[in-house]
Amino acid sequence: MDTERQDWKMSAACGPADGGIMFPPPRGSYEPARRICAGCSVRAPCLGLAMDAEGGASYRHGMYGGLDPRQRILRAPQWLAVEPDQRAALAKLWTQAGVKA
Ligand code: SF4
Repeated sequence: MDTERQDWKMSAACGPADGGIMFPPPRGSYEPARRICAGCSVRAPCLGLAMDAEGGASYRHGMYGGLDPRQRILRAPQWLAVEPDQRAALAKLWTQAGVKA
């Protein structure tokens, strides 16, 4: 996935949000962040950047692309198994409305 071009960050809906919303404390709720992401037009590249950066790490924090850490951990094996040029399509699929768990 092309993580070099990051022009999309200019369109991030979370830009004005308090950092504590997108990165809640332990046992905090991700629901406010999820609502912000739901209205964001750049969910797919955002998720792709996070998945590439996190790789196979077991610890993740923060909301990216509308997926919380648990959701990204569950998807990490599939992410790492696909060819890099297939990842943009996978991120797009996972960030479509209605995708759960
Ligand atoms: S998808 Fe969510 S975390 Fe990513 S840029 Fe948009 S609002 Fe921010």
